Amino acid sequence: MAVTSIDSLLAERGGVRGRVVFLRADLNVPLRDREVSDDTRIRAALPTLRRLLAAGARVVLASHLGRPKGERRAELSLRPVAARLANLLDRGVSFCEEIVGEAAKHAVEELGDGQVLLLENLRFHPGETKNDPDFARALASLAEVYVNDAFGTAHRAHASTVGMVAHLERHAAGDLLRAELEHLRVVREPERPLLCLLGGAKVSDKISVLEALAPHADLLAVGGAMAYTFMRALGQPTGASLVEPARLEDALRVLEITEKKGRRLLLPFDHVVAREIAADAESEIRAEIPDGWIGVDIGPRSAASFAAEARRARTIFWNGPMGVFEIDGFAKGTEAVALAIASAGAHSVVGGGDSVAAVNRLGLGDRIGHLSTGGGASLEYIQGLTLPGVAALES
Ligand code: ADP
Ligand code: MG
Repeated sequence: MAVTSIDSLLAERGGVRGRVVFLRADLNVPLRDREVSDDTRIRAALPTLRRLLAAGARVVLASHLGRPKGERRAELSLRPVAARLANLLDRGVSFCEEIVGEAAKHAVEELGDGQVLLLENLRFHPGETKNDPDFARALASLAEVYVNDAFGTAHRAHASTVGMVAHLERHAAGDLLRAELEHLRVVREPERPLLCLLGGAKVSDKISVLEALAPHADLLAVGGAMAYTFMRALGQPTGASLVEPARLEDALRVLEITEKKGRRLLLPFDHVVAREIAADAESEIRAEIPDGWIGVDIGPRSAASFAAEARRARTIFWNGPMGVFEIDGFAKGTEAVALAIASAGAHSVVGGGDSVAAVNRLGLGDRIGHLSTGGGASLEYIQGLTLPGVAALES
């Protein structure tokens, strides 16, 4: 893999002093009341940013946040991220409400060596996710050097991750992106047995991954809302739980693959059920989900069983909370799994924004082998796929 590192970039003749470096980072952080509520991803982006600034680069920092679908949405502005970044860096961070065009060019011209400018949310422009060539060219025209440290979007061929790269002669992978690739190789080429724990809400996003992981993992343990689509596919009662009816066949196919390959797929066999998804909702522990009740977390016996599997594994990959962990009463399954992974002697990787947030909330971050910032990207990489954002840096 011939991806240039920051080290090589800085060692090149002239380095980056006085150069405008476009740094594509992953600053897609959760916001609450227009303030950053978890700055894990901002902190993760700091090492590369600091090295570029220390080397005298004029950094144009860019990211997406949420899914504004090509429209300006005040509640998805990156402005609060600029404020938190300034705080963490302990220096001024300029912010430009425009992404491309005259105003953006002017803001770049104002930069001095070792200074940073954050552009507004890339996805406010419809050209970003479409990888529109004009938008890609306009982005590239802001800078001389391109650095991608956004592992979280490396699986997307967008203007800022793929389109603009060819227009800039010098490009490199940031430290975070390189570290991600290195750590995820532990799961891509695992010491066995490999346990994959999958949860969260988005079956449709993750079903292809499940399919790819099914033959790769020795054991798949499925929790979170994802489990109910599998349970429904097997004809088990799911009450009013979140089920994706369009994915029932996919779920059956995953079950078939695991069976054919002699792998195991473990589903929860007891559940925390509630009348509604709310902190003050009535809730119970049940082996079967009754009509009208919603499964909101795996039950204590299932959690203990998942934890026991974690103790037996040599490599563990976890993506997606086991329940609606944002609500304390429905967070026990997620907590039990997080604790089991932290105390297991296995190589461990936790991927996904919400899963990483859960680990950090429990103060277990230091006890996990690697916290991966990219959900979908990690998933694609560990199944052995080529990430377009990485491939663009190789050419
Ligand atoms: P990650 O960000 O780690 O990849 P996801 O975004 O796929 O994880 O899923 C996280 C979301 O899944 C959380 O907001 C959580 O509340 C939700 N979730 C988990 N279990 C359930 C459930 N049983 N019912 C509804 N939502 C759930
Ligand atoms: Mg998420």
